[in-house]
Amino acid sequence: MEDKRIVVALAGNPNCGKTTLFNSLTGATAYVGNWPGVTVEKRQGTYKNRKTKESAEIVDLPGIYSLSPYTPEEVVSRDFILNENPDVVINVLDATNLERNLYMTTQIMEMDVPMVVALNMIDVVEKSGEQIDAEDLSKRLGVPVVAISALKQSNLSELMSVAIKAAKSGRKGFSVLSEGKYAKDIKQAVVLYEEQEVSHPLFHAIKALENDEKELEANPELVKKAQEILAKGKQEDFEADTADERYQYITGSYVKARSGKKVEAKEKLSRSDKIDRVLTNRWAAIPIFIVALFFIFHLTFAEDLFYLHAMGVQFSMNFEGNEFFEGLFWTDGGINSIGVILANLVNGITGAIWTGAQNGLTQIGTPDWTIGLLGSVINDGFFAVIGFLPQILVLFFFFSLLEDSGYMARVAFVFDRIFRRAGLSGRAFIPMLMGYGCGVPAMINTRTLNTEKERTATIRVIAFFCCGAKVTAVAAIAGVLASNFGWNAELVSLSMYIVGLVLAVAMVILMHWTTQREKVPPFIMELPAYHAPQARALAIHIWDKAKGFIKKASTIIVLAALFIWVFSNFTPTWQYIPAMVDEMGEPLPAYEGSMLKHLCQAISPIFFPLGFGNNLLGEGWSMTLATALGLVAKEVVADTFITIAGGEELVAGMIGATGISVGGLVAFLVFNLTTVPCFAAVATAKAELPKGQLKWTVLFWLGTSYIVALMVRLMFDFVWTLAIIIPLIILIFVLAYLWYRRACKKEEAAKLEKGEA
Ligand code: GDP
Ligand code: MG
Repeated sequence: MEDKRIVVALAGNPNCGKTTLFNSLTGATAYVGNWPGVTVEKRQGTYKNRKTKESAEIVDLPGIYSLSPYTPEEVVSRDFILNENPDVVINVLDATNLERNLYMTTQIMEMDVPMVVALNMIDVVEKSGEQIDAEDLSKRLGVPVVAISALKQSNLSELMSVAIKAAKSGRKGFSVLSEGKYAKDIKQAVVLYEEQEVSHPLFHAIKALENDEKELEANPELVKKAQEILAKGKQEDFEADTADERYQYITGSYVKARSGKKVEAKEKLSRSDKIDRVLTNRWAAIPIFIVALFFIFHLTFAEDLFYLHAMGVQFSMNFEGNEFFEGLFWTDGGINSIGVILANLVNGITGAIWTGAQNGLTQIGTPDWTIGLLGSVINDGFFAVIGFLPQILVLFFFFSLLEDSGYMARVAFVFDRIFRRAGLSGRAFIPMLMGYGCGVPAMINTRTLNTEKERTATIRVIAFFCCGAKVTAVAAIAGVLASNFGWNAELVSLSMYIVGLVLAVAMVILMHWTTQREKVPPFIMELPAYHAPQARALAIHIWDKAKGFIKKASTIIVLAALFIWVFSNFTPTWQYIPAMVDEMGEPLPAYEGSMLKHLCQAISPIFFPLGFGNNLLGEGWSMTLATALGLVAKEVVADTFITIAGGEELVAGMIGATGISVGGLVAFLVFNLTTVPCFAAVATAKAELPKGQLKWTVLFWLGTSYIVALMVRLMFDFVWTLAIIIPLIILIFVLAYLWYRRACKKEEAAKLEKGEA
């Protein structure tokens, strides 16, 4: 008869499987990652069980280790449970890590809210030959305990039945501290809160005794009184003592519910430790990461897999006669990688569709300009961008593998060491790595960072990472470098990934030393267990990516292609250029005198120093156009060339005809990868940055990308400039560091003076 739906909150440590459980219960596809700090906001969904007819609203809270707010996630989670009165809290525990996970359980228990403990990852525990007696644990805790596997989706409807039942019965808070050293003090403090009719009196009373910051803000009077209860000299010890008591209680009582030998688990632990000894090794870690990246790029972009052809294997002779497979799977130049095979397939299909459509349209007498327009928009626009999709998905698949297995968290850990030496917290590195997928969620993820300055610096450098959309530009330009200058396309792509990373790390450090200087609290990074990647999670990630990409291709890309076609085929007086003739009666060259060409030529001197401005001949203005339109969405960069050239296979020829130098071409790529990101990312940055920071950030993007592209251009076209560039970079870093040291010393001196005064 109840109309109001029961609200169930999922709370627990980071990486204990809350989001996996949330997705399993609600059918949602929220981001699941094998590292701490993925969920930064609470998320809501609906659970419905057809058999039992039960339903509930589920809220996924950010993962936290305790309810003493130090981090933004802790504040979100604690405020939700305390102020929004969920009907029941499901405390999700990582059963393979009971001791640590139970710490927060002892804190939630102190609230007057019904709770159920979900012993998650029970599949892993069982596999290790260990047993946890849920019933026994339930007796010891005094709240229901249900063993589940969020991933294998086992026991979930039982969990929900128990939770819904608990929600209807209410619960009074209980503290393990009520039997310890401070039992009396706590009782007295609770009375204070009960007199004032504060809800969750036990929880608040303990926070007041802890002299908790948030509690002090909310109830300053009561905290003062509570502090007076504590005997003189004991105020300082309360927090440490009670933390001790909690752990003693956990190991002394709760963990007894565990039995069975942990032999295999121990072995596993040591195996994982052994792996980590190599993968996070001080010297080997970064080279290993780069080798891993190289293999990913090789499997995605290679047209001579494992360099067999380069090593002398002849393909056309060995496989003669298989015309269908030739081209798709291999060429004279070697075997294709999985990414290239899939791209060939997709391009074959879309090519056939367009050829068929073109023939049909010609037969029914469609005018040439209409076919030209459709060709630009559908074939050179939509289909061309869709042609990049297979390689992006393959790339994304490998990245998800690295992430879900737990390897990416190790990479973050390794960079944490570098960051820490520069006085920074390594926490910032996780959102940065997310930037390899898409900058938008990556920027939102910076909410896990503690300070505004650190967030600002991180959001700025996320724009340097080569996201999925930028891969299309990289692939297009790498193709041109390969066919015009004989470069290795995979190595070009790989270096663009590394350039973004190196630039990001360098700029974060530089900002930390100068404009964003502050003391950053140390960050203890926790490494999640290695596990085999989950097919379901992978499928969700990849499907999400594909969906977003297709949506973009069918909206923004189509519009951009239409825009390019119209404004590059008409003169400022709206005359259709392909129909125009010169004095001799000859047809005008394509784009001659078009609106876009005029406009781009007017802007192009800006890019002269970078080698892709008004120094170019022919259709060189398309470089300026691509750069400008890339601000809409980065896929448009590649798309501009394809539309202007009139097909993907014509791009290299068109760009070659502009007379662009190697340096200019590389500078173009670097500039586009590191400059102001797409609209969506800029809008996200605006929302996430502190007020008034967006304009400085846009300036920062423009300035950095221009300077870096200039250096790249000079380096490739005039090698001797390296003799100036390298010392200059070193000088900048040395000066910034000295500036930082001086400022730190000044601050310390000021502090000392204050202390003495
Ligand atoms: P959250 O940080 O608490 O939201 O945790 P996630 O839902 O993001 O999961 C963290 C990792 O644990 C992911 O790699 C999941 O695939 C994995 N995981 C979650 N639940 C289970 C489970 O029941 N069994 C196993 N073996 N792995 C799980
Ligand atoms: Mg989560």
